[in-house]
Amino acid sequence: MKTYTIGRTSVSVFLGDITTWTGDIIVNAANSGLLGGKGVDGAIHSAGGPEIMEQCMEIRKEQGGCPPGNAVITGAGQLPAKHIIHTVGPIWEGGGRREEHTLAECYRNSLLLAMKVGARSIAFPNISTGIYEYPKGPACDVALKAVTNLLEEDLPDNRLERIEFICFTPENEELYVQWLEQFTQEKEAHI
Ligand code: ADP
Repeated sequence: MKTYTIGRTSVSVFLGDITTWTGDIIVNAANSGLLGGKGVDGAIHSAGGPEIMEQCMEIRKEQGGCPPGNAVITGAGQLPAKHIIHTVGPIWEGGGRREEHTLAECYRNSLLLAMKVGARSIAFPNISTGIYEYPKGPACDVALKAVTNLLEEDLPDNRLERIEFICFTPENEELYVQWLEQFTQEKEAHI
């Protein structure tokens, strides 16, 4: 585990399973139908129980799913977290279809929604880097730029004390740690 401080928020990187994470909000890499699937989505629904899908179905009835880049919130069923933010990452199609913008929106909209509900902690998986095949290095860059940019906006309703990236593979863990090391070194060099 590695921790960095950005503004008033600590940003950490872990290797592990997001379904066991304790805190206010875990983010799910959902699909636009909110119907569950494989990967982290499947793991969250099977560990959290049917309540989560029931709430996803309510959202489907109200707004017909969730477009890529957007985020919706449900309870967390049996999971130790309090809520789940379901966001829909882009499917990688070579980079020419605004995938980068959509992925950045996933992180930004999830954080804005977390702030709106007064969350103090949130955990993200590496959205789109599994079945959706977004290349891991560029996805890490987009994720951390989106998160650090938003933290630097110093929004008045930001009560987030900790943001954690739960990496499922050592490769992703290393990418996130390297990015944050470089980011904090560059910051220090500017002081
Ligand atoms: P996507 O369709 O957005 O690519 P995936 O679930 O296939 O979603 O993959 C997103 C990321 O989540 C991948 O990096 C994958 O390794 C990771 N992942 C899969 N299961 C878990 C889990 N239980 N906890 C944390 N991350 C997970």
